[in-house]
Amino acid sequence: MTSGSTGAAEQVVAGKPRVVIVGGGFAGLFAARTLRRKVGHEVEVVLVNSTDYFLYLPLLPEVAGGVLEPRRIAVSLAARLPGVRVVLGEVRKVDLANRRLTIRNAEDEPLELGYDRLVIAAGGTDKLLPIPGVAEHAHGFRDIPEALYLRDHITRQIELADACDDEAERDARCTFVVVGAGYTGTEVVAQGVLLTEALRKSRPRLRDQRIRWLLLDLAPSVLPGLDPRLGRGADRVLRKRGVEVTMKTSIAEATRDGVRLTDGTEVATRSLVWCVGVRPETLFEGLDVPTVKGRVTVDEYLAVPGHPELIACGDIAAVPDPARPGELCAMTAQHAQRQGSVAGRNVAASLGYGERRPYLHRGLGFVVDLGGVKAAANPLGIPLTGFLAFLVTRGYHLLAMPGNRIRVAVDWLLDALLPKHNVQLGLVRSGAVPLDSADPGIPTSPVRPTTTST
Ligand SMILES: Cc1cc2nc3c(=O)[nH]c(=O)nc-3n(C[C@H](O)[C@H](O)[C@H](O)COP(=O)(O)OP(=O)(O)OC[C@H]3O[C@@H](n4cnc5c(N)ncnc54)[C@H](O)[C@@H]3O)c2cc1C
Repeated sequence: MTSGSTGAAEQVVAGKPRVVIVGGGFAGLFAARTLRRKVGHEVEVVLVNSTDYFLYLPLLPEVAGGVLEPRRIAVSLAARLPGVRVVLGEVRKVDLANRRLTIRNAEDEPLELGYDRLVIAAGGTDKLLPIPGVAEHAHGFRDIPEALYLRDHITRQIELADACDDEAERDARCTFVVVGAGYTGTEVVAQGVLLTEALRKSRPRLRDQRIRWLLLDLAPSVLPGLDPRLGRGADRVLRKRGVEVTMKTSIAEATRDGVRLTDGTEVATRSLVWCVGVRPETLFEGLDVPTVKGRVTVDEYLAVPGHPELIACGDIAAVPDPARPGELCAMTAQHAQRQGSVAGRNVAASLGYGERRPYLHRGLGFVVDLGGVKAAANPLGIPLTGFLAFLVTRGYHLLAMPGNRIRVAVDWLLDALLPKHNVQLGLVRSGAVPLDSADPGIPTSPVRPTTTST
């Protein structure tokens, strides 16, 4: 059934149809799980992902803030997916006519893989806007290397400020600009303020130093697109911590020494963090696959029109939102996970196992971790702030994580009981995490030192 082979990944299991899932994030993991459950061992299930782990992205800001160690939010795909063949590599080319994928493995060697059904769950990457200097001077925030880089970078700025006698330079090093007030930017700022406050505590020379955090967005309010009550709650917490929440404003230009805002204000800074939305992966650019705003068009069954062998789900797919007719589902973990389960079920149905069903999920609410004991949440539409929201948020994440729960809980406990452990390890240098990288997941050489400025 599966077309012929070239390369090490091709080990056709005789007589069995093969389903390949591209992407091991929320959508891919749950697609693989559901599919395996539905088809038993009658179908070969292969998952290709650029890392050997599933990344629980909603807790990435806690890694940058020094609350969680990075391995806590990286869950082994092989351990979570018994019976599924996990291929570590990046899909570079999809040959729809011949149903074949070209893959580069972790050591940049080529592999070829044929398929009978293909599930595309490759997620998204940072959305770059054509603003001068942003690609060169801003840092993205989508994966572990970027979070580790940011944690070190913030620590380094405070340490350099402490050692510096030049007032202007000290001020610039103590100014942090985050663009994008969605859940990523909001959580990064919330964690960042707590991190810099903890760093300041052990540096008496910085006792009276003003440490500025600016949160910018062109939207009129924090957490645009979510329940406005969540946005108001988050806005209150951030302002109370001294964050300069500056809405309807973005960056007009970025340089090594600072940024110019769209209202003309110049801000001297060495830290620009780019959290502006998500751009779907470009895997299908130039192919005969219909797209909407770069996302693969699918019907309510997640099937790609004109390609009966193709299913797409998660951030990369333009899935009609059952709760908002005429609109597409937001790029959230909740949608991706549930779409993944429906995708697994519908692929199984296309091979003769069970019935397919449409994607019908309506949101169960949202949680936004604001660091310390603060959060904003609206479980089942009930708005919560403060400590109760914090408990709901932590509980939700523990339940939603597909593994490592005890390790995460222990890190949270240690963070509550002990002072922060603030050192920079320098494992990820700025040149290894370029904002305009198309590489998903990890840089090919995360420890490679570069001469690029930090
Ligand atoms: C910092 C951050 C915080 C977030 N917080 C929240 C939150 O609090 N709540 C919420 O609902 N959502 C949150 N989100 C959004 C949520 O994480 C995404 O909507 C969700 O991860 C989408 O799932 P997915 O499976 O489509 O993509 P992903 O989870 O991004 O997974 C895609 C996978 O595909 C792999 N991949 C990509 N291209 C290739 C390729 N060519 N070959 C092989 N593998 C490939 C990637 O390495 C990755 O493992 C957050 C996102 C970020 C970045």
